[in-house]
Amino acid sequence: MVDTRTQSVSRSGVAAPRFADGDLYSLAEKHGTPYFLIDEATLRRKVSEMEQGFSEYKGVFRVAYSVKANFNPSVIRTFASEGILFDLTAPSEVVFVQKAGGSAENVMYTSITETKAEYEQVLKMGVRKIVVASHTGYLNLAEAASKLNVTVNAMIRVNPEVHVHAELHGSMGHGKFGLQFNGGSQDSALVVLKKVLGTPLLRFEGFHFHLGSQIDDPSCYAEAIEKLEAFILGARRQLGEFRVNTIDIGGGVPVPYGRKVPTPKDLGDKIVGQLNSLVESIGDRFMLVAESGRFLTAESTVLVTRVVNMKRFGETKYIYVDAGYNVLLDSALLKHEYPVDVVPGGKPSPQKVALVGRLCDPLDVFPISSRSKLGGAELGKLVVFREVGAYSLVMNMPFHSQPRPPVLMRGSQGSYSVVRKGQDVERLFADEGGDCLSN
Ligand SMILES: *Cc1c(COP(=O)(O)O)cnc(C)c1O
Repeated sequence: MVDTRTQSVSRSGVAAPRFADGDLYSLAEKHGTPYFLIDEATLRRKVSEMEQGFSEYKGVFRVAYSVKANFNPSVIRTFASEGILFDLTAPSEVVFVQKAGGSAENVMYTSITETKAEYEQVLKMGVRKIVVASHTGYLNLAEAASKLNVTVNAMIRVNPEVHVHAELHGSMGHGKFGLQFNGGSQDSALVVLKKVLGTPLLRFEGFHFHLGSQIDDPSCYAEAIEKLEAFILGARRQLGEFRVNTIDIGGGVPVPYGRKVPTPKDLGDKIVGQLNSLVESIGDRFMLVAESGRFLTAESTVLVTRVVNMKRFGETKYIYVDAGYNVLLDSALLKHEYPVDVVPGGKPSPQKVALVGRLCDPLDVFPISSRSKLGGAELGKLVVFREVGAYSLVMNMPFHSQPRPPVLMRGSQGSYSVVRKGQDVERLFADEGGDCLSN
């Protein structure tokens, strides 16, 4: 049974996953609430939507999954089986990818800390594509490569300093990430490029930038590519010829969350022509990489909670569910509005409605999107938060002694399985220091 009332439809016309109401209730009986539920078919479909968006690019196009958005081993394994790349930032992420069936060959490693020890560690694990983003990072990578006597493909992370229209900025006003094209100090893309080109164990691979997350106006990509082109042509005049094998345009493809946002196809329509001209103007048919964490994972997942209390306060009807921002941190941190609905739904309430969590903290109020349908709320009914697959279960925390909820997955064949066990309170107690009490 499919309940058509609870689907959201993205602008591309493809429905977010449908879970039958009956299935959600029987899973709640079996596993308790709250629980996360991931749809494997949606994860796979998002990869092909990304690939279709860039199908007009004349060279090779690859999607890279930014594992930080959701490092559940079954999610990683699903993407590994799609043969896509992985965008990683910590040695522990390399461990996750390798243990879940991915290979170091498919890793693009972009460190923030860029220490020599870290580079040695990931080189030993077999990673060979590394993005440097500071002069110190370059020196550390060169030393690590020389100590282990391995050849490394080095990318340079630039910060194109373009205006980004997004919820979360990675570029504008943020010097944390990437090098200026010509900063006037050794921390500039030009200086680091020159050094990489002159370092025998480093093979210059190409350029990387990452502009932000949930980017709802793709023109910043076009601007960044324009600046990169000017930089490449200028750098060749100063440093002589060098080949550009890869250009990685970072992440940021947005998720609807109940609104209209540009699709990968819209992004492709905006910039693929420009990228094809870039191939002509620099004379290199570079591999194009687009990273994504949010777009690839968000829509696949719902958080299922239960109404455990209701009350009137003045004109407002309060609906209490048995989860809080401990499982959906961005709702408190960023006031992020996830589409929410009661299952099965009912008539919209004439009163003002507030949806609140179980934590004793005033921040534990879920901002409700205007598209959310909270009609029909009754004690015991399920309340489903949609499009929660990115940056949520990786941020689950034990605030208020809350054990982590289970994560379930509906496989491509339709059967349900547990992909992260719920934490029991004994285990939580031990991990939080209970196991030190005897000392
Ligand atoms: C976080 C991050 C991404 C993923 O961003 P999304 O908004 O999830 O697509 C991609 N690249 C880098 C370097 C990142 O830090």
